[in-house]
Amino acid sequence: MTGAPIGAQEWVPPDAQTLDELKAAAADCRGCELYDNATQTVFGRGAPHAKIVFVGEQPGDVEDQQGLPFVGPAGRLLREAVDDAGVDPASVYITNAVKHFRFELRGKRRIHQNPGPAHITACRPWLVAEFSLLKPELVVVLGATAAKALLGPAFRVTRSRGQLLPWPASAQHPEDFPVAEIQALATIHPSAVLRADDRDSAYQGLVDDLKVAAAAVSH
Ligand code: SF4
Repeated sequence: MTGAPIGAQEWVPPDAQTLDELKAAAADCRGCELYDNATQTVFGRGAPHAKIVFVGEQPGDVEDQQGLPFVGPAGRLLREAVDDAGVDPASVYITNAVKHFRFELRGKRRIHQNPGPAHITACRPWLVAEFSLLKPELVVVLGATAAKALLGPAFRVTRSRGQLLPWPASAQHPEDFPVAEIQALATIHPSAVLRADDRDSAYQGLVDDLKVAAAAVSH
């Protein structure tokens, strides 16, 4: 594929009623070149009426092989943090801004590469479709890539993490997410905790941010 990706829109069923329909259609997506080297599309999963939707960057190596988001080490850590923050795991849905694994081969190892702005734009129709069915109360944006995708290129997670933000006023392309009374909150990606020199305090920071999320949704 050369030039800008064509984007996922033509694979999104316009009248999908369920997340399963979206997931099935996304399995065939060729909206950008990332499908070519990855094993499979990794769609979101979780409660169909989730109050909180987590949006990460892209699937990792383990997720790519298993076809499920957040099942690798970062996913385990996130589930633990969700639990420690008092977020009800039954009212959560989790997805990624980009739904195929982008990597570079070094020998036999697949090394994670950040998705580029073109991949994020190409994959955006899936996120829009997920949001329009889920209608969450709160979107928790995990890490810089997802934050830039949803909250605009100037957004800095380090500066604004853990704060409830209005949505869609602060979001990029707010017209894509016509959901009334939705809020956003940004925090670090759980993989950043795994990489941190001081893992305990990074983990505690993530939990503290998620406590704000837990308190922000209806019970
Ligand atoms: S990354 Fe997104 S747009 Fe690109 S092929 Fe995969 S699902 Fe389609």
